[in-house]
Amino acid sequence: MIPFNKPPYVKKENYYISQAIKKRKICGDGEFTKRCSKWLEEYTGSSRVLLTTSCTHAIEMTAILSGVKDGDEVIMPSFTFVSTASAFALRGAKIVFVDIRPDTMNIDEQLIESAVTNKTKAIVPVHYAGVACEMDTIMDIAKRHNLFVIEDAAQGIMAKYKGKNLGAIGDYGCYSFHETKNISMGEGGAILIKDLENIEKAEIIREKGTNRSKFFRGEVDKYTWVEIGSSYLPSELNAAYLYAQLEASVKLYDDRMKSWKHYYKSLSYLEEKNIIHLPKIPDECEHNAHMFYIKTKDLEERTNLISYLKKNGISAVFHYIPLHSSPAGNRFGEFRGIDNYTTKESERLLRLPMYYGLSDSDIDFIVEKIYEYYGIKVG
Ligand SMILES: *Cc1c(COP(=O)(O)O)cnc(C)c1O
Repeated sequence: MIPFNKPPYVKKENYYISQAIKKRKICGDGEFTKRCSKWLEEYTGSSRVLLTTSCTHAIEMTAILSGVKDGDEVIMPSFTFVSTASAFALRGAKIVFVDIRPDTMNIDEQLIESAVTNKTKAIVPVHYAGVACEMDTIMDIAKRHNLFVIEDAAQGIMAKYKGKNLGAIGDYGCYSFHETKNISMGEGGAILIKDLENIEKAEIIREKGTNRSKFFRGEVDKYTWVEIGSSYLPSELNAAYLYAQLEASVKLYDDRMKSWKHYYKSLSYLEEKNIIHLPKIPDECEHNAHMFYIKTKDLEERTNLISYLKKNGISAVFHYIPLHSSPAGNRFGEFRGIDNYTTKESERLLRLPMYYGLSDSDIDFIVEKIYEYYGIKVG
């Protein structure tokens, strides 16, 4: 069986985890947490990067940081993971869903402005498959209407928009290091903070609403409750795993990119014949090979292809059910404008196995089975 995903592993993780254990420092904010933050700050150019227990939690932190409250509106695509919306619904916000572009599956930047009202507080672009949203346009709209931009860059580490790292463009960015992402720590994530003045508040929110980080730096002589917050600081054991991955990030990236290009080249013939469609990468974007998807004609064809691949030992999967058609999405949000592409395109999308260490021969086998399904000889 060729699985859909295998968590990335480069072997050095064991060594770093055992070092953390030996130091008798396994709670958060030890040496590995600090090393990871520094690595991410240097790599992304963000003023401050704090590790979190998940990307979901990083987004929840941004909702608190931007002061989102009851009755505010937050704009995002409906084609995204639950956490993008739930983090703001937790603060009482109304979620405003806007249609996506069929080429990238990202929020259609041209439709955002007409969804803005005097209640709008933030725009949350989601960089699907590590392909950037049209950030210049989004930043411009936000500036003119005085809105926060919070990037859901869960899938976006090492991907760029006009040379800038995803997550480091908006006011806040959120990464995921879940085992299904390019770089992992099991469960975990990070929040990227652009403005220096927001750093202290972020540290407080992450430390249960206390100024404990200041205390540890010797800046106050006791720590106390100063804000709302939660327990968003990951363990050193997870950070140690992550540090090994960050050190190996180029290797992880190159390996995925090689697989992505191999898929793309091998499946091009089916696209030329207009049988399937392949991902589109706009010129401004450097993606990170997070995902390889194809688009079938429609839902029925996708369902049949998934079971055909499964019969042949290949695990291929669909992705998000648009949030506006979910029970909670209905309760906490509304789709503003017309759903031209969100539902239709999400029903066509099929993700193929993609992970660090996926072999060329496995890709060849998967490709062969796709050609076979369509009754076409490998081109
Ligand atoms: C994975 C993912 C998340 C959630 O990440 P966790 O670290 O599992 O909380 C949020 N948004 C998007 C777009 C994702 O792909």
